Amino acid sequence: MTFRVRIAPSPTGNLHIGTARTAVFNWLFARHHGGKFVLRIEDTDTERSRPEYTDNILEGLRWLGMDWDEGPFFQTKRLDMYKEAVQSLLDKGLAYRCYTTSEELEALRESQKARNQAPRYDNRHRNLTPEQEAAFKAEGRSFVIRFKIDDSRKIKWNDLVRGEMSWQGSDLGGDMVIARATEDGIGQPLYNFAVVVDDMDMQITHVIRGEDHIANTAKQILLYEAFGAKVPEFSHTPLILNEKGAKLSKRDGVTSISDFQKMGFTAEGLVNYMTLLGWSPPDSTQEIFTLQEAAKDFTFERVNKAGAKFDWDKLDWINSQYIHSMPVDKLTDMLIPFWKEAGYHFTENKERPWLEKLTALIQPGISRLTEAVEVAKIFAIETVDFDSEAQEQLQKEGVKTALQGVVGALDSEINAANAKDIIKQVVKQQNVKKGLLMRSLRAALTGEMNGPDIVDSWVLLNNTGLDKLRLEKAIAHSSGD
Ligand code: GLU
Repeated sequence: MTFRVRIAPSPTGNLHIGTARTAVFNWLFARHHGGKFVLRIEDTDTERSRPEYTDNILEGLRWLGMDWDEGPFFQTKRLDMYKEAVQSLLDKGLAYRCYTTSEELEALRESQKARNQAPRYDNRHRNLTPEQEAAFKAEGRSFVIRFKIDDSRKIKWNDLVRGEMSWQGSDLGGDMVIARATEDGIGQPLYNFAVVVDDMDMQITHVIRGEDHIANTAKQILLYEAFGAKVPEFSHTPLILNEKGAKLSKRDGVTSISDFQKMGFTAEGLVNYMTLLGWSPPDSTQEIFTLQEAAKDFTFERVNKAGAKFDWDKLDWINSQYIHSMPVDKLTDMLIPFWKEAGYHFTENKERPWLEKLTALIQPGISRLTEAVEVAKIFAIETVDFDSEAQEQLQKEGVKTALQGVVGALDSEINAANAKDIIKQVVKQQNVKKGLLMRSLRAALTGEMNGPDIVDSWVLLNNTGLDKLRLEKAIAHSSGD
């Protein structure tokens, strides 16, 4: 049997990290078993659904490498099928029209609250006579379609993550609404109903989704039974939690995949980290792997029941591993848009080899692509300001003459070899310590005391003609004869 799974996002917001992680687990499961991964857009909530969210979801899934085999299917294009399915339940007497008004429902809830009872519909319109129905219609009442739920039923399933699950029919809130009235009298389907009709139609064998859907599963199983369909396997994956143990939300800063992208995470790093949010590979010390490697090992036995805490340090570390091992030309391509956005003109007027050298220089020191903006700043601006440590360095004894010696030796283009020769020569001629000269060069050329390799930085600055200017400015600032 070919396993078939699906991701079914609602386009009421950008692709959320939780939905994306669920997509990753579906994808890994499908690829592990050589199955099919289906994409369905659940856009029946026409008020909150927007095409730009659909675009964001599709782009985000593609960016993460979650290629789907079928779809995207849009629920709004399948309304006829849901209507037929509603009609079939009405015909079998398993569903009925309920004319209870919202005021009546509110009064019911109030009286239940006063008696300390959980709110539930009391099934009052389950057995209306044709005359009663006609009377409600004549009153101009609108209706919903409710599916009958047997309170005495115990609904059980063996969840692939959570094991034996059981739910009492009486805890499902009474007969459930599956569709709302529309002009033609059949109705606009609701989430729980459309999902089941779709999952049956798409022959989904495994429903893998977030644990916030557990309560829906019991209702959905009853619908499968009503249609005489095979119930799929269910797998409820743990929620992603913030540092305080609450569900990760907008309040925690970022929640959508496009936010993570803007923050400078690579797709490979982010998806690697997301795979570890709730799953661990058989060798639990292994933290860096490709999607294909994870797919080889992926089983639900290794998915945790407990919520997965989001750990920014770990994400940064994993991302840094991808950045550090990336081919320089690929990383250069990825950094250019960030540099352009920062307004660094060297992205336009510098030759590609120079940009690649810059990339190689800063590569070991960054863990997010965005960090390349700050680190590369000294190569993009004309003059640097000396911070307090650099100022202090420039006042040290012997610094001024040593830097004058360097400027005096700057007669041809600098490369790593002749830069080192100049350093040697100045050390010898001026009788300064090499360490002092190197630190002074750093202070002069970058305005700071920390940063990437100073000889390589000098070479790049020399290529842009900025080194002499900066050395001269440093000499003017220096009192360290
Ligand atoms: N549209 C639902 C959501 O975005 C998905 C439900 C499901 O996977 O069954 O939460």
